[in-house]
Amino acid sequence: MNCPKCGAELIQKYYKGMFEADVCPNCFGMWLDFEELDKLEDAAFGEDDQKGSLMHFQTRTQFACPRCGAALDEFQYRLYDLRLDACAENHHGFWLDAGEDERVLEIMRLRAEEMRRKFAVESEWKQALKAMHLFLTRK
Ligand SMILES: [Zn+2]
Ligand SMILES: [Zn+2]
Repeated sequence: MNCPKCGAELIQKYYKGMFEADVCPNCFGMWLDFEELDKLEDAAFGEDDQKGSLMHFQTRTQFACPRCGAALDEFQYRLYDLRLDACAENHHGFWLDAGEDERVLEIMRLRAEEMRRKFAVESEWKQALKAMHLFLTRK
């Protein structure tokens, strides 16, 4: 496989002990299969249902998928200020430019914190509603 950005041949590298990624030795970008981005997110964040919708504002690029050669789509990652490229055509995976993997982890950690806070508030609210409901329906 070749780098969609600079054309250098990608080399397989074990990423942070989690999975095999295809890394560009020239521009240090990284190709991840779809499941691999999932693993990267899981490193920062737990359950799938809390990760939310992945792609926003999709636009076609001139870069080619290293797997099938189809044009990659650029999209905004989970509404954060981070743009990734993906093979939307055949669902092969994602391209991360150098350093973007760290940004993904950082975003997911921030989001995990936000979620924990949100869930704490929500469960308190649920308890309050339950108490109110019990009070109001008591005969
Ligand atoms: Zn490259
Ligand atoms: Zn592809």
